[in-house]
Amino acid sequence: MDFSLEAEHEALLSFVYLSPIGIIRSDVSGTVDMLNPLAVQLLMPISGSRGVGNLFESLSSVAPELRNLVSSFKAERGPVCEGHRIQLTPVGERSTVLSCNVIKLNSDTLMTTLTDITRQVEAERRARQHESWLAGIYTSVNDFTFFTLDAAGRVDSWNSSIEELTGYAADEVLGQTLDRFYASDEADPHRCPEHIALSREEGWHIQECWCQSKSGRRYAAQILVAVLREEDGECAGYSVVLRDVSERKISSDELTRLLTTDHLTGAVNRAHFFKLAEKEVQRAKRFAKPLSFVMIDADHFKQINDTAGHQAGDRVLTRIVQVARAGLRSIDVLARLGGEEFCLMLPGTSAEEAFVIADRVRQAIENTCQDVFDAQVKVTVSAGIASLTSPGDSLNDLIGWADKALYEAKSSGRNCVKAI
Ligand code: GH3
Ligand code: MG
Ligand code: MG
Repeated sequence: MDFSLEAEHEALLSFVYLSPIGIIRSDVSGTVDMLNPLAVQLLMPISGSRGVGNLFESLSSVAPELRNLVSSFKAERGPVCEGHRIQLTPVGERSTVLSCNVIKLNSDTLMTTLTDITRQVEAERRARQHESWLAGIYTSVNDFTFFTLDAAGRVDSWNSSIEELTGYAADEVLGQTLDRFYASDEADPHRCPEHIALSREEGWHIQECWCQSKSGRRYAAQILVAVLREEDGECAGYSVVLRDVSERKISSDELTRLLTTDHLTGAVNRAHFFKLAEKEVQRAKRFAKPLSFVMIDADHFKQINDTAGHQAGDRVLTRIVQVARAGLRSIDVLARLGGEEFCLMLPGTSAEEAFVIADRVRQAIENTCQDVFDAQVKVTVSAGIASLTSPGDSLNDLIGWADKALYEAKSSGRNCVKAI
């Protein structure tokens, strides 16, 4: 019997000695009569080499309240405090935090346990920080939102930024696919599955498309879908960033427009025209397709300026472009090369067809451009046509020939079309 008691006592002592928590036994005034190696180690930063003679004194600089907690605990036995946090070193990156439990065993014995919870506290601090960052982002952004999809591609998280951007409340979004956000006229049953499939293949994928808010506001959107993976590499779901890029799109469209069009008439500008024309000549040669150019020049334009004024002249130029464009296909390109000179590029169009088109444009201008000013001078144009006939023809050749044909039209009395 004695033997087994002794063995049990031994086992208990070994447990206290090896325990992963600091254990201290003291009387109610804090005088320590037993503490395990881990407790010595944990209290080292404040007790130093002096050791821990009295628990409350040792902790007085960091937990002065402990002595009071014990003295005001009137019961014979029971827990005095649980999970009481003690900041051992000043708050900072590497500050040590202990969790302290004090148990009163009888009227004069306290058992105190100490656990190092520094890592846990740090993790909690980071989590709180992330939470407040996210809360800040969720509530302050209004041109993008982020949320997650489950492995089946259905929205499984919600935050206020979703409502901010899309107008949808949680119950209108949770369980839905990305189809929820697309503009109704962009409805395409393949868009969403395709996006998800590409994200799975590449890890992430961005699509640009039109979206629509609950109130019906259309906006150009950029949707990034990235795969969230489990530790074993399995797809756990997706994170989504949905951005309203309308403003950026408008400004980039505006920039493109500024760089490629003539500011007065809205026709394609000279530089951009030569870029497009060079490409078109190459394409026509490669696919053996016809291609025609029509050089157009306003007749007696100097006289128009002289009699009606320069501003009226400007209006005529704008009107010429408007009228000419009205009879063209979307693939035809009308450019202002300079002054009152224009060039029309007609892809897939033979010389004969180009003649018909050019003459129709000429007639339309003769019939309708007069309305912009009240003057005796008639608004007419002359035109010269050149078409691609051999793979050796360069853009320069074609423009030169069209110019020559235009000159012929001018010499033949103007308001007419000539082909080379
Ligand atoms: P032609 O029938 O032989 O082409 O005679 P024209 O008077 O049209 O030809 P010319 O080249 O002698 O004159 C072109 C005029 O176009 C001269 C110039 O002042 C005018 N012009 C050039 N650019 C502009 C412009 O942007 N606005 C206006 N209002 N006039 C312009
Ligand atoms: Mg002219
Ligand atoms: Mg001219």
